[in-house]
Amino acid sequence: EFIDAEIPDDDAPIPEAPREPLHGLVALVGRPNTGKSTLFNRLVGRRVAIVHDEPGVTRDRHYADATAGTKRYMLVDTGGLDPESDDPMRQGIARQVELAIGEADVVVCVLDARAPVTPAEHAELGLLRRSQKPVIYVANKADNPRLETEATDLYRLGMDKLLSVSALHGRGIGDLEDAIEAALPREPRIEPREDEDAIRVALIGRPNAGKSSLVNRIFGEERMLVDGRPGTTRDAIDILVERRGRKFLLIDTAGIRRKSKVHKEGSPIEAVSVLKAIRAMERAEVVVLLCDAAEPIAEQDAKVLGLAVDRGTGVVIALNKMDLLDRKTMDKAEEDTRDKLSFVPWAEVSPVSAKTGRGVDRLLDQIASVSDVYRRRVPTGELNRFFEQVLATHPPPTHGGRAPRLFYITQAETSPPLFVVLASDPEKIHFSYRRYVANQLRKTFKLDGVPVRVKYKARR
Ligand code: GDP
Ligand code: GDP
Repeated sequence: EFIDAEIPDDDAPIPEAPREPLHGLVALVGRPNTGKSTLFNRLVGRRVAIVHDEPGVTRDRHYADATAGTKRYMLVDTGGLDPESDDPMRQGIARQVELAIGEADVVVCVLDARAPVTPAEHAELGLLRRSQKPVIYVANKADNPRLETEATDLYRLGMDKLLSVSALHGRGIGDLEDAIEAALPREPRIEPREDEDAIRVALIGRPNAGKSSLVNRIFGEERMLVDGRPGTTRDAIDILVERRGRKFLLIDTAGIRRKSKVHKEGSPIEAVSVLKAIRAMERAEVVVLLCDAAEPIAEQDAKVLGLAVDRGTGVVIALNKMDLLDRKTMDKAEEDTRDKLSFVPWAEVSPVSAKTGRGVDRLLDQIASVSDVYRRRVPTGELNRFFEQVLATHPPPTHGGRAPRLFYITQAETSPPLFVVLASDPEKIHFSYRRYVANQLRKTFKLDGVPVRVKYKARR
C-alpha cells in the first residue's frame, strides 16, 4: 500500500495539459450588483470548479481562461479588480472602463435589466461608445421571457446591440459566447517565436518593485542588439540582449517603463500592471517575479505567479533591493518569500540589487538554466528506467478494490515539458500519487524552475 507520508511535504500544483494560445483579453465592466461575478462563473464554467478542487493552487476568481467557440481568451472581472467597488456608495465604473478600454480586446458591459440605469452608467456608456474597442452590451437578470422584453428598454440608451441574458439561469449565454467569439481578434495575439535561441522572459512584479531599474541595469551594461522590436500587441516593445553568451528577449519592456507617477497599493495602476503581466506571460517561457525585499510578499504576487504556473512557464523569483538590507534581514525576507509562495517550492529565490548590479549575473544564469529545463527532452531510455524504478518501489495503491495499472510513460512535449502516462484506470489514480510521480520526475531529471506536467491517459 502506498503511504501518503512519503510524499514530499509541499503543495505544488500539477498543471494540466498545454493550452492553446490566447486570442485576447475580455473584460467585464459594470456597476456593482449587475451580476458580473455570476456571469464570470457562468462563462468560465466547469473549469474553475474543477481547478479549485486541487489543493494548494493559488487561483483568483477575477481572471480565468475561457473558451468561446474555437477561440480561447482570458476573462477578467474588472469590478473584482477594483478594490473600491465594494464600497456601496461608489456607483461609478469609470476606472473599470478606463482599464478595460486600455487593456482588453473586447469589453462586455453588464447592465441590470431590472433596474434603472444610473447617471454614472450613462456617462460610462458614452465613454465605451466613443472607444475603438469592440463592446458587447448585456442586459443581465432577464430570467424569463417577460423580463427579456423589458430588457429591451435599455435599448433607449442608444447601443445598437444588446443581449438579454440570465447569468443565474444560463439563458442567452450561448449567444453571448458567439458574440465574444466574433469580437475577438481573428488570430491569437501570440505570434510564433521569431528567434529560436533567445530566451523569452517576462519580468513581472508590483509597481515599485524595481522592474524598470532592473531592465535599465541589464541594458546599461550590455550592447543592445535590437532596439524597439515591434511586439505583438499594439505597443509592446520586446528587447533582445545578449549576455554571457545567451540571448534574452525581454518581453514588453514598454509596459514596464510606461507608468503613472502614483503607485498606490490597490490603485488602478496596480490592476493595470496585472493585465500587462498576463499579456507578457502568455509569450514567455520564463517568468521572473520581481519583489521588493523590504516589503512583504503581496497576495497580488502570489496570484500572478499562480497564473504563470497555470500556463506552464518557468519561474524565477527575484528579491530586489538587497542593498537596503543586511544579511540577516535578507535571509528572513527569503524565508518569508518561500513561505508565502509555497506553491512553487521548485522555484529559485534570487537576491538582487538593480541599483548596484549585485546578483544580476546570477539571476540571468538562473533564467538561462530554467529555460534549458523548459526546453529539455528527457531521453526515452532514461525515462523508461525511471518508470521501472517507480513501479518497483511505489506502484499505484489500490483504489476501490483494484490497483490501477501503469503501462508506460513518454514525454509528449517540450517547452514546457509534458509527460504522459498510459494507465488502465486513470481516474482511479489518487492525487497524492500523481504528485509523487511528478515530484520524482522533477528530482530524477532535475526539472527545477518549471512546473512538471503529467497527464494520465486511458489504455485498455
Ligand atoms: P457583481 O457585483 O456585478 O459581481 O454582481 P454579482 O454577480 O455578485 O450578482 C449580484 C446579485 O445579482 C447576486 O445576488 C446574484 O445572485 C444576482 N444575479 C446575478 N445574475 C443574475 C440573474 O441572471 N438573474 C437574477 N435574478 N439574479 C442575478
Ligand atoms: P517599477 O515600478 O517596478 O518599474 O520600479 P522602479 O524601477 O521604478 O523602482 C521603484 C523605486 O525603487 C525607484 O525609486 C528605484 O530607484 C528604486 N529601486 C529599484 N531597484 C532598487 C534597488 O535595487 N535598490 C534600491 N535601494 N532601490 C531600488
